[in-house]
Amino acid sequence: MTWSARIQTALDERRQADAFRQRRPNAGGNGRWIALDDRRYLNFSGNDYLGLSQREEVIAAWQQGAARYGVGSGGSGHVTGFTHAHHELEQQLADWQGYPRALLFISGFAANQAVVAAMMQADDRILADKLSHASLLEAAVQSPAQLRRFAHNQPASLARLLEKSAVGETLTITEGVFSMDGDTAPLAELHHLTRRHGSGLMVDDAHGVGVLGEQGRGSCWQQGVKPELLVLTFGKAFGCSGAAVLCDDATADYLLQFARHLIYSTAMPAAQACTLQAALTCIQQADDLRDKLAANIARFRTGAAQLGLRLTDSSSAIQPLIVGENRPAMVLAERLRERGMWVSAIRPPTVPPGSARLRLTLTAAHQPEDIDILLESLNGCSHGISE
Ligand SMILES: *Cc1c(COP(=O)(O)O)cnc(C)c1O
Repeated sequence: MTWSARIQTALDERRQADAFRQRRPNAGGNGRWIALDDRRYLNFSGNDYLGLSQREEVIAAWQQGAARYGVGSGGSGHVTGFTHAHHELEQQLADWQGYPRALLFISGFAANQAVVAAMMQADDRILADKLSHASLLEAAVQSPAQLRRFAHNQPASLARLLEKSAVGETLTITEGVFSMDGDTAPLAELHHLTRRHGSGLMVDDAHGVGVLGEQGRGSCWQQGVKPELLVLTFGKAFGCSGAAVLCDDATADYLLQFARHLIYSTAMPAAQACTLQAALTCIQQADDLRDKLAANIARFRTGAAQLGLRLTDSSSAIQPLIVGENRPAMVLAERLRERGMWVSAIRPPTVPPGSARLRLTLTAAHQPEDIDILLESLNGCSHGISE
């Protein structure tokens, strides 16, 4: 097959399955409102759970950081890209989370890839929740270690795998709050099991940090668990981008030697580290925003239950409405857009086949009347959409 034939076939397959993905340029704003195609929509699709991407002091920190350090970091952290702003942010993150060390990465995707690649060798074993994020599962597939998946949020399923002995080391991987389902991992039970069987635990808390636990420390803190590796990402509640890996001293020093995404990639700009410091301060003091978000989630779930909409087991800001097939999910998203609400239809392979869904996200920036309009519209639009 020629390249062009291969590409054409793959594109045709995607189109025929109603799974063809396209981007739409956003004209500005990714908070409560989003502007696309000359129209303003209520945004129920972003991950900026506390509205921090639009916060004055966070934006000011970016501007001041750029004025002081310039816009680029000039190299990897091992060369000249590691500044006082990065150093302070790492220490603040470590203190906040109660870990000896934090290491910054340019994205959660890079952090997950780098950690799994650096930690795992042939003869080792990775046990991952079946619904783990693509960045984790892909890292695991690429690793020379053996990959086994356990049933989603089922400690008993993990226990069966842990009971089989491994030649090398075992790393168990899960998320705090699952990105496409919004449900929470039973972290205390999982950590109890991994410790008993000598496995390390890696938790990706992309959607829990900032939102859950005292001072927004996240899912692990909330459940009283301290995994050996904790990954935080800054593209969600921090309203920015980037990630950090929290770990002990030796692991941090090891990652600085062997995590290729740290060594062979330009560090995040110092201005971004300044921004993240400001966002962290906001998050630590954001009980009012977390309360507002919780009230919005409760309002949505109560209203949706009254309308007989089928909700999932999520108490988080991620409230998926499982539709089933791709086409009806896209039709529903389109009908909501016609009514002025921006929502994303999430299709396989991001989610399992037959579980296409609207992934609705609520934020502290939403007003109660926004939730009411969403519910009213879902009620009006769901008609004729089959499961
Ligand atoms: C968003 C997300 C990532 C990727 O993080 P980025 O910083 O956007 O690259 C990783 N894991 C989970 C669970 C996520 O939701």
